[in-house]
Amino acid sequence: MATIRVDRWPITVQLHPAEYLPGWLMRVGCRYQLTPIQILRELRVPRSPTGYHLVLEHLSLHARWIAAHLGVPAGDLRAALWGRPIDAAAARYLVHHRHIRPDRGGSRFCARCLAEPDPWWHAGWANPLLPLCVRHQVYLQSTCEGCGQVPWTGTAWMSALAPPWQCPQRHAREPQRPGRVRPFCRYDLRDAAVLAAPAKLCHAQQNLIEFAALADLQPSRQLRYGTTDMPITEVLDELCRRFVDTIGSPVRGPGDRPGQSEQGDPPARQNWHATRWPFQAGSQPASL
Ligand SMILES: [Zn+2]
Ligand SMILES: [Zn+2]
Repeated sequence: MATIRVDRWPITVQLHPAEYLPGWLMRVGCRYQLTPIQILRELRVPRSPTGYHLVLEHLSLHARWIAAHLGVPAGDLRAALWGRPIDAAAARYLVHHRHIRPDRGGSRFCARCLAEPDPWWHAGWANPLLPLCVRHQVYLQSTCEGCGQVPWTGTAWMSALAPPWQCPQRHAREPQRPGRVRPFCRYDLRDAAVLAAPAKLCHAQQNLIEFAALADLQPSRQLRYGTTDMPITEVLDELCRRFVDTIGSPVRGPGDRPGQSEQGDPPARQNWHATRWPFQAGSQPASL
């Protein structure tokens, strides 16, 4: 009888559309009682990744191999690695208009989403332009109240085994005890205080995400702005700028500000204008 070599792992942990990849890796880990670094080793993905970018690089280089073993469609994994149009829009806006190199490490979170049954980390929470959970109409939290860090920053989470609602960080290094192995934080992120966000800001964020998707589908489209035609990507940059100005806090990567709370941010201004499209109604895309 011929021997059939079965490489696929027995349990498939579904990768949700727009799921944050470190969070998915951790969910896989929780099913197998393996840390993310142990999963990569089991999959014989070479070298220990030492940072978020390297984790992505490793997943990217071995996407087909990893997808085949973990039982998820390779296309889904590639789509998650590629990101959504709003992620590309945020990166372009930050680099070209704010001269900030976006750091993809670290993610904000919605305590309400994490308190739902079978929670998972949303990739949008890591987008520095999107500070809200539109489903719950609340501001996302940047830092864990247990350790003061932004979840998923650094590399400690690679050796953690934490359910989605638990902070995957290690406690910060103590200067007086530099050699000591730092314990994991394990703070329950569902306990974080949440701050309600105005409905119109939530709509504006949703509009921005949808407009980025449209610009991605029709990148050569021109939209009428006053008396001139503007490329849709320039309109998108302008909408990003207006959204950031309206939110009223300086743009930063979720991981740029460890140790501080999002609650210290000034409240969003009420005069939100970006939902009024800066081009004439006649040229407005029908799908909007
Ligand atoms: Zn939420
Ligand atoms: Zn923590």
